[in-house]
Amino acid sequence: IIANWKMNPDTSDKAVTLVQTIEQAITGISDVEVVIASPFPFLSSIATILTHAKLGSQNAFWEDKGAYTGEISADMIKNLGVKYVLIGHSERRQDHPEETNEIINKKIIKALKNGLKIIFCIGERERDTKGCYFHFIKKEILEGLEGIDGKEADNIIIAYEPIWAIGAKAQRADRPDDTLKIVDFIREVLSSIFGKNLSRKIPVLYGGSVDADNAQDFLKNGGVQGLLVGRSSLDGKIFSKILKDADV
Ligand code: PEP
Repeated sequence: IIANWKMNPDTSDKAVTLVQTIEQAITGISDVEVVIASPFPFLSSIATILTHAKLGSQNAFWEDKGAYTGEISADMIKNLGVKYVLIGHSERRQDHPEETNEIINKKIIKALKNGLKIIFCIGERERDTKGCYFHFIKKEILEGLEGIDGKEADNIIIAYEPIWAIGAKAQRADRPDDTLKIVDFIREVLSSIFGKNLSRKIPVLYGGSVDADNAQDFLKNGGVQGLLVGRSSLDGKIFSKILKDADV
């Protein structure tokens, strides 16, 4: 279960308090891997207090160093204790038009090369009646994972997040039975890249308006191995309930 805090909370103290609540909740569960994808400025302070959850970041650049003002490399965050990195989140794709499938592929290659596990975010803008979204998703996967060796399968997580279901302006969460169809399709595409056996190692997660009421339904009926949780991960109580529901 991955918490995507986005650009929240507003202070380091609040980030630390939230981590403490989450850590407390994890002590009561046995079989859930938890990742907290924090904004860059909080990574160092959070790293010192994490015991069960793993540290994640929300982006990493595609070069190691150089004249790239404002960018942060995979190597830099790895040295802060980051184990997982979100790549290709739709809010980045939307707000940074240069964040194309090609650039996302470069970021994935660099992050994997630096020993990070990648959470590769994909998902359609619109669920059209003609089923064009299947082609859209396939293109995202094929172009994003272009040239990635099958031996990296252990380090790849796919987060399926329909864009229309994400964030405060979301129409609604997906329906788990619809998610299931798309996850099956994603698995087919992964299998065409890595083969059946290796592709089975890749967890597929659902994200988009997950809350304490629907998390279990997605995990039971959506065909996914985990969840990427945005807003609901900022409320310690709600996120703790999601973790508890995932511990079956
Ligand atoms: C996200 O940002 O990845 C996300 C799923 O957001 P939310 O849960 O708030 O819809």
